[in-house]
Amino acid sequence: MSSWEQNVRKVTPYTPGEQPRGEQVIKLNTNECPYPPSPMVAEAINHGDKNRLRLYPDPEASELVSAIADYYHVNQNQVFVGVGSDDVIGMAFLTFFNSDKPVLFPDITYSFYDVWADLFQIDYVTKPLNQNFEIVTEDYLGENGGIIFPNPNAPTAVELGLTQIEEIVRSNQDVVVIVDEAYADFGDVTALELIEKYDNLLVVRTYSKSRAMAGMRIGYAIGNEKLIAAMKAVKFSYNSYTMNMTSIDAGVAAIMDDAYFQKIVSQILKTREQAKEKLSELGFTFTDSKTNFLFAKHNSMRAEVIFEELKKRNIYVRYFNKPRIDNFLRITIGTDDEMDKLYRVLKEIIAADTKLETDTE
Ligand SMILES: *Cc1c(COP(=O)(O)O)cnc(C)c1O
Repeated sequence: MSSWEQNVRKVTPYTPGEQPRGEQVIKLNTNECPYPPSPMVAEAINHGDKNRLRLYPDPEASELVSAIADYYHVNQNQVFVGVGSDDVIGMAFLTFFNSDKPVLFPDITYSFYDVWADLFQIDYVTKPLNQNFEIVTEDYLGENGGIIFPNPNAPTAVELGLTQIEEIVRSNQDVVVIVDEAYADFGDVTALELIEKYDNLLVVRTYSKSRAMAGMRIGYAIGNEKLIAAMKAVKFSYNSYTMNMTSIDAGVAAIMDDAYFQKIVSQILKTREQAKEKLSELGFTFTDSKTNFLFAKHNSMRAEVIFEELKKRNIYVRYFNKPRIDNFLRITIGTDDEMDKLYRVLKEIIAADTKLETDTE
């Protein structure tokens, strides 16, 4: 090893789901929205004055902050925006998780949390979900250096009730509790209504899933103004101009078109409920999904085999070769046509497997 190599920061990066190219692919592996963003977004991108791109963008992204604040009926100084919620959560780790005590999060959860903790050299302890993949509230009531969990959780799709969230926030007022609500638009619960009551609660949201804009990279956090000011101080000590002009314009346009947003979310929920029926008929069981994906297990075929067989037929779902979840598939809800194709192909794969078994008997 060269001597400089000893001083390299050693990290194991986050592995995102594959982004296969090609028209034929049905992509149900990264929880993107199958529908395009609001037509107002295209309008905003195409019709902006290109000459102004010479200039730096507004470091505060005030127009976007203000649109988000209006939408949620909060003050502008209660909103922080970033380049996707990954940027927002990364900033939050850097800003709030500086205690000698370990940060807590579930053992099965968004697999970026331990990566940020390692990168920023933050000590952490994971708390096992119970048999039903639910967060055990009591595990989060002891001493700690901060807490983060997604609600609904990913990749399990299970939602924690507001009473339990409040108990965690209330019992941890000496640290910051971050609720990552990437999928909350598809669920029944949000912690947003607690932010006026608790100054230690930060709620993080994203445009990537429910607003069909993963490619624009917009995320935001809502919380007490002191939390937001602290995050801004860290952000402006690192890189001030992260939100580009086009994303700011597109983000404003999307949040203004609430009718379109409601329409695509309810369509996804409809398809999801249908998928629960169709996949049950094919021998799958799953958690009660409150997200835009199902976390499913088959009654006879191994998840990894189904994953590989689907991939051969250009259908991409997500498989995690990790303890406790290595026999589950995470299947993003696509359009009705995409899902119909999925059911047909699954039926074939399962029939072929059953035949193979009876033939060898
Ligand atoms: C998708 C996702 C994110 C990150 O989304 P961005 O595209 O960076 O906004 C964060 N948390 C969870 C739980 C997610 O599933």
